[in-house]
Amino acid sequence: MADATSFLTEGRAALERAKDARRRFVELPADADYSRVVFAFDRIRAPIDPARGWSGLWQHTHPDPTLRDAARTLEQELSAFDTELSLDRAVYDRLALLATAKAPTPEEARLVEKSLKEFRRSGVDRDDATRARIRVLSDELVVLGQEFETNVISDVRSITIADGRRGLAGLPADYVAAHVEDEHGAVRITTDPSDYIPFITYAERADLRAELYRANTTRAVPQNVGVLKKILERRAELAGLVGYASYAELMLDDKMVGGAASARRFIERVVDLARPRATAELAELVAEKRERTGSADVIRDHERFYWIERTKAERFGFDSQSVRPYLAYASVRDGVLATSQAVFGLEFRRDDSAERWHPSVECYDVFDHGARVARFWLDMHPRPDKYKHAAMFPLASGLEGERLAEAALVCNFPEPNGDDPALLLHQQLTTFFHEFGHLMHHLLGGRQRFLAYSGIATEMDFVEVPSQLYEEWAWSTGILQRFARHNVTGEAIPAELVQQIRDAEEYGKALHVVVQMFYAALALEYHSRDPRELDLLATMVEQKRKISPFPYEEGTHFYASFGHLVGYGAAYYTYMWSLVIAKDLFGVFGADLGAPDPGANGAAARYRRHILEPGGSRDAKELVRAFLGREYAYDAWQRWLES
Ligand SMILES: [Zn+2]
Repeated sequence: MADATSFLTEGRAALERAKDARRRFVELPADADYSRVVFAFDRIRAPIDPARGWSGLWQHTHPDPTLRDAARTLEQELSAFDTELSLDRAVYDRLALLATAKAPTPEEARLVEKSLKEFRRSGVDRDDATRARIRVLSDELVVLGQEFETNVISDVRSITIADGRRGLAGLPADYVAAHVEDEHGAVRITTDPSDYIPFITYAERADLRAELYRANTTRAVPQNVGVLKKILERRAELAGLVGYASYAELMLDDKMVGGAASARRFIERVVDLARPRATAELAELVAEKRERTGSADVIRDHERFYWIERTKAERFGFDSQSVRPYLAYASVRDGVLATSQAVFGLEFRRDDSAERWHPSVECYDVFDHGARVARFWLDMHPRPDKYKHAAMFPLASGLEGERLAEAALVCNFPEPNGDDPALLLHQQLTTFFHEFGHLMHHLLGGRQRFLAYSGIATEMDFVEVPSQLYEEWAWSTGILQRFARHNVTGEAIPAELVQQIRDAEEYGKALHVVVQMFYAALALEYHSRDPRELDLLATMVEQKRKISPFPYEEGTHFYASFGHLVGYGAAYYTYMWSLVIAKDLFGVFGADLGAPDPGANGAAARYRRHILEPGGSRDAKELVRAFLGREYAYDAWQRWLES
């Protein structure tokens, strides 16, 4: 098992190899061959790519706190090197010699052009004092980002229900069983998602839901109020130093969206399209609440999921708990893996001899036509001090003939234990498929000649396309019936139930879209305005009033635990942007995914070839055009929204 010292030592050795590669690149003779220069430039970061991946994963998942600390330290050192490299005048000048030379291939020309542009966005052509300041700001931002995330993870809040389990009315039996009353007869509910989400969805006691919602939206307060302010100040200063009006402008300049104004227009367009339907949905929730409680004129945040659940139970005669017996964790895992193997004609083999960071972790090798092409890890169950959400962590970017692509899925699904098969919600199955879509993108896009193009190295606002497209597999009757069997009777999930799940689970989707756009607008505004004059709370309240159908709750501070502000910056809009594209691409697959065709001209094979395998080697727009044979459009997304 890796220990903190050897992890750090190996990471630092990799860093030294990267520094050597940088030195060798700068020393290349002026008349060196174009391809040799591009290749040497591309390989500077190759030694630290896996170290970065593992430090990203382990700071969020390793059970050993000294290793988590070591991973954070290493990440800081690797980021410092990246910053230094992005400001290295000698590297820039050497690469710039190619700017006027004739490139042997379009791929290489694109790499040079993009890299030079990226250098200038980083400030490489600024004076020494400016570059020194950029370095300081960038290093501080890494530490502040970690601080923000650590404050969120470590501040688990809870409510105590003095009435004990009587306060759990409405919740599923296994949830109740898992919450034992203490010696005073009280039950504690935490803000961890595995506790929080079922409670906010099913608990009948509105006062307790309100209390838990408040606990959740005051996490990391006041610590992160100051941290976030500092992050926004430094980001704005950074953008100013390299000639941008705001951090949003700097960040969105190289995305598909092309700039902050265009992102704002996108958000407005989506809100306009979704508003009529969202208003109708809200009216239904209010009507349902009024019918059951006798009075209602508004739905509050802590009531939203509860009334959506009640309304759909009423409308569709559907209880989301009724699907769970078909979704035991082990069969879901096997099903997601089997589906991916069938869709892309791959074979996954579990490797039980691989050294793992926790006993529940699994390791799989990916084979394509008998050749090992990638490796992935599953870390799927909750434990203390582990990342609370679901995400794919890239561990190594693949390089054809040199290194296999590698990645980990980190989720928080219930764990089978003795007689408990760990039954999932359909939503969790969807999440599993979503993250697996990211995984396949990183792994299948990892057979590249250049590191710069490997895996998910595409435009950030295209990254959620493969994952959101993959969610569609969670709705296919043909796919589900292969693995979703009742854990007692063994019966395959009935087709009517699948349709019911879809109708029910998508119920309230326009409200969801509008809330998403509130988050997107918030992230964009925080990164567009002058942080010296920015009031975090007032801006959030203002955006919530403008966009969200749910009123602001006095005293809550959602932004203090809005983790995407660190990782996604101004770019939260990317989810919906990607969904518009994903819905269009999905049309090519046809309605039934039950019989995926791995043949060379089947939709899945063409999707793999045109969208996943190119990684970042071409602009996302071009990939989409190659797959669709035209530009993408909003029609499919709009049909989905209105269906
Ligand atoms: Zn995603």
